[in-house]
Amino acid sequence: MNLPPDIKQFAQRSRGDAGGGMIDPFGRRVSYLRVSVTDRCDFRCVYCMSENMTFLPKRDILSLEELDRLCSAFIRKGVRKLRITGGEPLVRRNIMSLFSALSRHLETGALEELTLTTNGSQLHKYADQLAACGVKRINVSIDTLDADTFARITRWGALDRVLTGLRAAVAAGLRVKINTVALKGVNEHEIEDIMRWAHGEGHDLTLIETMPLGEIDGERTDQYLPLSTVRRRLERNWTLEESDHRTGGPARYVRVRETGGRLGFITPLTHNFCESCNRVRLTCTGTLYMCLGQEDAADLRAPLRSSESDERLDAAIDEAISRKPRGHDFIIERGNENPAVARHMSVTGG
Ligand code: SAM
Ligand code: SF4
Repeated sequence: MNLPPDIKQFAQRSRGDAGGGMIDPFGRRVSYLRVSVTDRCDFRCVYCMSENMTFLPKRDILSLEELDRLCSAFIRKGVRKLRITGGEPLVRRNIMSLFSALSRHLETGALEELTLTTNGSQLHKYADQLAACGVKRINVSIDTLDADTFARITRWGALDRVLTGLRAAVAAGLRVKINTVALKGVNEHEIEDIMRWAHGEGHDLTLIETMPLGEIDGERTDQYLPLSTVRRRLERNWTLEESDHRTGGPARYVRVRETGGRLGFITPLTHNFCESCNRVRLTCTGTLYMCLGQEDAADLRAPLRSSESDERLDAAIDEAISRKPRGHDFIIERGNENPAVARHMSVTGG
C-alpha cells in the first residue's frame, strides 16, 4: 500500500517501532482499549442493570468525533486492539460513522483489530456495514436459548430478533463468539445445550461469572454460580482439552473434543486474571479506568477539550497508565449488599 509519509510514521509509532508504547508500573504493555460508547441500552439484563436506570445527561457524553480523537491518541501510543462496547453500542445514533473513521487505522496497519461486543438486537441492520469497516470478529451476548427465559433475563429483549441478527452477522462474514453469563438457577441447566448449539453453528463460546458491578434490583449472591462448578459438571459428559489459545482477553480456553469447538471461562472471582492484564477501559464521558475492579480513574475529557493539540491529552494518558493497579479485589459475600464497585458494567463496558 502506498501511504503518505505522515501516515506511515503514525503507523510505525503505533507499532512501537519508534517508542516504548504504554508500559505500566508492573511491566505490562497496554495494547488493548475497550471503549464504552454509550451507557444506554435497549435491554435491562437482571445482572447488569436495574429496571429504572438513570443514564448520563447527553451533554456529558463525548461526541463521536471526540471518541475518534481519543481512540486515535491511544492507537498512536501503542494500542493494537480496540473493542467498542457499551451499554449497547449499536443503539448510539450514527455509531457507524465511528467505525468508519476508526477503520483508517486498520488500513494503515496501526491497528490490528477493531471489534464489537453487542447484545445483537440491532445486528440485522448493521452487520454488513461492520464488515465493510474492517470488523472481523464480534462478541454477541446470549444467556439462554429459551425465548421466555431470554425475556426474563433481559427484561426488554427478544431472542428471535437476536438470532436474526446473528444470521446476518454470519452472512456478512463476521466471526462470532457467544458470551454467556452463568446464572444460578436461571440458565445453569442449559449450559450444555448452549455449548452444543454454539459449537454446532461454528461459534466459540465464553462463559462469564457475574461480577459485583453496580446496583441491581436483586441480590448478587442469588445469581452467582462459580464456573469451577460449571466446569466440573461439563467434564462429566465432555472432554475438555487444555488449550493455549489466547485472544488478548482474560478468558482461559479449552477445546471440547466431541464438538471440536472452543470454550472459554472468564472467572474473575475464582481465578485471578490480573497478572497478564494488558487493557484499559474508556467510558463515553472520557473517563479512563485502568482496572475494571477498582474505582481509580483518570479524566481525559478535560485535557481533550482544553486544546486542539494532543499534548495535554498524551500527558494525561501517560499519567493514568503510571497508576494502573496490580489487580482487582472483587468479593461477593452473602449479607454484603453493596457492590464491590459502584459503577455498572454498562458504564465501563464488559
Ligand atoms: N450490551 C452489550 C452486550 O450485552 O454484549 C455490551 C455491553 S455488556 C456490559 C458486555 C458484557 O458484559 C455482556 O456479555 C454482559 O453479559 C456482561 N455483563 C454485564 N454485567 C455483568 C456483570 N455484572 N457480571 C458479569 N458480566 C456482566
Ligand atoms: Fe444491556 Fe449488555 Fe447490560 Fe444487557 S448486559 S443490560 S444488553 S449493556
